[in-house]
Amino acid sequence: MKNKSSDNYKWPLIGNKRNIDFLSRSLSNDNLSSAYVFSGPDNMGKTKLAEHFSRIILCQKKDLSYSERPCQTCASCRKFISKKGDESDIAHSDYYILKKDKEKKNISVEQVRDLIYSLSMSSFSDSHKVAIIKHADTLSESASNALLKLLEEPRKKVIVILVSSQPEKILKTIISRCQHLEFHPVKNNEINNYLLDNFKLSRSASKNYSRIALGRPALAVKFVEDKEFYKNYLERLNYILDIIENNDINKRFFLIEGLLDKKLANNESVVILKRLLEVFQGVLRDIYLMKYGLYDLVQNEIVDERLRKIKIKNDIQGIVRVLDEIELASDYIEANINSKTILENITLSL
Ligand SMILES: [Zn+2]
Repeated sequence: MKNKSSDNYKWPLIGNKRNIDFLSRSLSNDNLSSAYVFSGPDNMGKTKLAEHFSRIILCQKKDLSYSERPCQTCASCRKFISKKGDESDIAHSDYYILKKDKEKKNISVEQVRDLIYSLSMSSFSDSHKVAIIKHADTLSESASNALLKLLEEPRKKVIVILVSSQPEKILKTIISRCQHLEFHPVKNNEINNYLLDNFKLSRSASKNYSRIALGRPALAVKFVEDKEFYKNYLERLNYILDIIENNDINKRFFLIEGLLDKKLANNESVVILKRLLEVFQGVLRDIYLMKYGLYDLVQNEIVDERLRKIKIKNDIQGIVRVLDEIELASDYIEANINSKTILENITLSL
């Protein structure tokens, strides 16, 4: 059997070459697993990679080598190209995306049963059937058990790909039945070069986007393509800086109040709060790095001037204490403690 190099493949991902090579080899050697887990931080491009992998598998031009697929012209490929909204909008009879409903906490057992039923139907074009389960760590207990049954008795030509940023929350027995690929953050300069090669950007803009993306290529691309998303990031960044710069505790609380009124008064507050805390963490880490003169590693170089002027009580120890507090905040969020209390607690430790 020929073992072609992965260099011929056009994967939509940078970095994590070991995983890419693995998938290329599995395709080239016709040695596909029936289940995969793609795990790693959010915004690494895991779902996009899973989709591309599916497109190759489902492409109908079987006379082409795998590295020449997806062909972009067959009926299957065209369905992916013509998708309108997000990734779940694809009307493809052999491709499924399963994800948690926005208002729900978990992926339900009914959703998994529906999926298993669809996968049990034989494919119209005798093709594979591929299912991607996003945020697989949110499978409910009964949903996990239903999925486990499917994985224990794999069907021919059925492939399931679980995507997760918290694989430790997935049933161990599920993971053990899957080929587990772990994705790791990508070096800044690799992301920077990718942005320069693929987008019309100035060197300084590209450097900025790659730095604030913290090793997550898909996030860097999102910053470039979605101006509103980037604007929101800057807004949060400046708000956090306002809070830290203000030494008066009442003023800090007042700022938090304003922030809550504006942004956190709806049901998406948990997501927003998590993003806000991520920015908070980033700012503190930057101040910490600057104390050690590690300017090259600073994430928010765009607010360099402001960062340099910030003073935190007891400096290094102080920063570590606040970072610990933010770490704890993720547990509080899980426990449904309200956003205001969480933010005030962090601010008190500043
Ligand atoms: Zn095709």
